[in-house]
Amino acid sequence: MAGVIRRLDEAVVNRIAAGEVIQRPANAIKEMIENCLDAKSTSIQVVVKEGGLKFIQVQDNGCGIRKEDLDIVCERFTTSKLQKFEDLASISTYGFRGEALASISHVAHVTVTTKTADAKCAFRATYSDGKIKAPPKPCAGNQGTQITVEDLFYNVNTRRKALKNPNEEYAKILEVVSRYAIHNSGISFSVKKQGDTVSDVRTLSNASTVDNIRAIFGNAVSRELIEVGCEDANLAFKMKGYITNANYSVKKCIFLLFINHRLVESAAMRKAIETVYAAYLPKSTHPFLYLSLEIAPQNVDVNVHPTKHEVHFLHEDSILERVQQHVESKLLGSNSSRMYFTQTLLPGADCSSSEVVKSAANSSVVTKGGSDKVYAHQMVRTDSREQKLDAFLQPVSNPLSAGTTEVTAEVNAGPPEGAERPQDAEMEEVSDLVEMVDVQEDTVKPGGPSESGRLSPETVPSRKRPREDMDVELEKDDTRKDMTAACTPRRRIINLTSVLTLQEEISNQAHAKLQEMLHEHSFVGCVSPQWALAQYQTKLYLLNTTKLSQELFYQILIYDFANFGVLRLSEPAPLYELSMLALEDPESGWTEEDGPKEGLAEYIVEFLKRKTEMLKDYFSLEIDEEGNLTGLPLLIDNYVPPLEGLPMFILRLATESEESESGSTTWKWTVEHVLYKAFRTHLLPPKHFAEDGNILQLANLPDLYKVFERC
Ligand code: ADP
Ligand code: MG
Repeated sequence: MAGVIRRLDEAVVNRIAAGEVIQRPANAIKEMIENCLDAKSTSIQVVVKEGGLKFIQVQDNGCGIRKEDLDIVCERFTTSKLQKFEDLASISTYGFRGEALASISHVAHVTVTTKTADAKCAFRATYSDGKIKAPPKPCAGNQGTQITVEDLFYNVNTRRKALKNPNEEYAKILEVVSRYAIHNSGISFSVKKQGDTVSDVRTLSNASTVDNIRAIFGNAVSRELIEVGCEDANLAFKMKGYITNANYSVKKCIFLLFINHRLVESAAMRKAIETVYAAYLPKSTHPFLYLSLEIAPQNVDVNVHPTKHEVHFLHEDSILERVQQHVESKLLGSNSSRMYFTQTLLPGADCSSSEVVKSAANSSVVTKGGSDKVYAHQMVRTDSREQKLDAFLQPVSNPLSAGTTEVTAEVNAGPPEGAERPQDAEMEEVSDLVEMVDVQEDTVKPGGPSESGRLSPETVPSRKRPREDMDVELEKDDTRKDMTAACTPRRRIINLTSVLTLQEEISNQAHAKLQEMLHEHSFVGCVSPQWALAQYQTKLYLLNTTKLSQELFYQILIYDFANFGVLRLSEPAPLYELSMLALEDPESGWTEEDGPKEGLAEYIVEFLKRKTEMLKDYFSLEIDEEGNLTGLPLLIDNYVPPLEGLPMFILRLATESEESESGSTTWKWTVEHVLYKAFRTHLLPPKHFAEDGNILQLANLPDLYKVFERC
């Protein structure tokens, strides 16, 4: 059976149409702001409740509405702006079809309070479904118009249900208003929640466009802006705006596009510009763009969509191309000169946050949050994983990486068993002083027993055994790692006077403040193999990794004397070859007078072989019967000494000198995760480090802020 065709009730038609123009509170606010701008206002204030769903108030200081017009202001197709259809071609106001207020009044309760310049007082009227409910009432009021919209979509169930997140709606409102604020410098804007004293967006009437961008999007954006501007008479368009240079990038593109002063979306334009940036920005990051296009009104069709969101224009492709070219040329021009500056900035400025609407200037956070606001200049890096120096540097492939990774070191059981006591005659006198005691390794304070009377726990802060707290694995072989612990249940207590004296010296020299700094520091990054940056509290330090690690290894040698683990070489290294290699090296200082290298090498092998027991017992340096080096002392877990230094080490061991320096594959990783980690707990930094420049305070954040505030 065919249905009966009926004419829809007018109110229903209007409500359907209204729903198309006003899809959410932000749309209503946009329409109202456009009306304020059309009325030549210089101040526009928005107050909302529940994301605008409960209450919206837009107040301006514009021309106002004449009392006579108040009767029909909310009816459809009533406008003061357009009279003839032909006028559409030259329209210079936002509104032209008298649809906004009408639409809003069909889906909400609208109240208009307005005063024109020549009226004696203000008038107020309320509207429902496009009609005034009662004659306008005189009231007090300043020049301008205040429109309130209450209970939006009270009569559109489905829409009300779809918009149940006031925070989301509020974010949209902030977005729309802040964009209009940026586009309309010279006019002050503010948005706040009802009851709040501080606005969430606020711009001042004397502020520039860049000031407004800074106030809304923050310094990170505003300091990287390039001004753009071009025009083409043939295509009858002008473009101006601000775009970020290649130093700035965000996860999500921020694109403020105005065409003939209307906030619009243009997927084509966005794509065209993003293509240009793709060559300059890190992968999957995006720029901030504010562009204002003016296109001859006769070439623009604004009447595409009820929300006027989408705009089409003649010569679209050609205009896009021109804009693209211009952006490219500007980016190229700005690139080289500014790159250096920001690359040398320290990490901290977070450029990766998504769109920020909260203004930095109005900082409502301060008043609302009250107590726990942390200002940028007080921020302390608490997690070294946050952002490190490397993030600012181009990855460079390490030329040393070939070959060295091949060396596998086996981490093996710690101190030798009691059965393997030294028998060498030379060792007898000391061996009497070495006792075996059964102790749980994790309770050991290697600082030495207080019973000895030489070192009290106070003078030697507890130094944990290096092997316990390593959370990084060098080898994937977990069982072996476990075995290390299982096989080192005992620790020998050393009563050698010489060793104890050296231990005491170290602890007397310790600098408490530096030790605390090392203990608490956050690693920032390696400057070079020798130097690294670390932050402690608000201070930035430059540390001499080489000197600190030399001291560390020295201290470990002293404190862990006769208790080292073994770093077992996967392939025994013949001492003879090592010695030969070392002698070939000019660093060895070998001259003809020293006699033939072969002879020296043989001597070295014999010399070390004779000391095998002692080297093994005290230093975990293992040499087999054939004169091969099989194990090295394991001073700290996961630290494999750079083995290219091995020949020289062997030579020096025999000729009594010191060991060589680092320079291995993953040195950065090792520095951060092994050395600096060990510095935290195992190093007692000597006082002189504070004076000789091995630990230097470079900057203190509050002081830096003082410097920059003056710029
Ligand atoms: P349009 O803007 O398309 O003309 P609107 O429904 O938005 O239609 O507004 C209808 C009319 O109400 C406008 O033409 C204008 O005369 C008047 N009006 C609305 N808001 C304001 C305002 N804030 N200040 C002065 N006049 C206003
Ligand atoms: Mg309008």
